[in-house]
Amino acid sequence: MQWVRFEAEGVSQWGILRADVITAVSLTWDEILAGQLPDVSDSGPQYQRDAVRLLAPVGRPGKVIAIGKNYLDHCRETNTEPPARPLIFAKFPTAIIGPGDAIIWSAALTQQVDYEAELAVVIGKTARRVSEADALDYVFGYTVANDVSARDLQFGDGQWVRGKSLDTFCPLGPAVITADEIPDPQTLAIRCELNGIERQASTTSEMIFGVAQLVAFCSQAFTLEPGDMILTGTPHGVGAFRDPKLFMGDGDTVVVEIERVGRLENRCIVE
Ligand code: MG
Repeated sequence: MQWVRFEAEGVSQWGILRADVITAVSLTWDEILAGQLPDVSDSGPQYQRDAVRLLAPVGRPGKVIAIGKNYLDHCRETNTEPPARPLIFAKFPTAIIGPGDAIIWSAALTQQVDYEAELAVVIGKTARRVSEADALDYVFGYTVANDVSARDLQFGDGQWVRGKSLDTFCPLGPAVITADEIPDPQTLAIRCELNGIERQASTTSEMIFGVAQLVAFCSQAFTLEPGDMILTGTPHGVGAFRDPKLFMGDGDTVVVEIERVGRLENRCIVE
């Protein structure tokens, strides 16, 4: 099942997307995460996907956890050893935007804005100290993320949270695909293109720590709550490690696409 959040007739609402038609439902995000489904009698109005504005397909998560250096091919391009354990950082939830929204930054703040194609995990149930064997039971679903990164701030600060958390730097969507449709999240093609040119192309099988390991690892240290998100790292091909370096600029269009999960497109505005 594909869940979307959208705006129609001035109202933000949740819906189920099937073959480019959205059926509105009168459920809250908490109810959806808990596995509730609309009654047959409750099926709401229908909209063509292209006739409404899609929003980020999540509520306001309590946490957006992100994982650094989690693809073997990315470690090879950065000439670093694979980490011995997951490298965790945070993106503030205020950075979230939806499909089609603009990634906006000030040239006075950063001049090195980069893309990172990532599979995003949406937690469905409270997870504390769960085992790797049980971890996927706590996953509600998956969506596409772009872990947009201001490299000058990320590396200049010595820690990453500011450069990863600028407003608009966490595009998500277009839909959350429920976990039953993706029984093995480690077999998905993942790619990114900037202005129509492919810049990242890999597979989630290159992840050093897979989704189950990440959920289990995080839950040993802190409680994962319904709606929390884990961005699982990016494969090789990011702009900062290309020669010459490649950063995004005003008017650019960036697309992240993950097999069976979706295609997320955003444009860039430099103010
Ligand atoms: Mg990342």
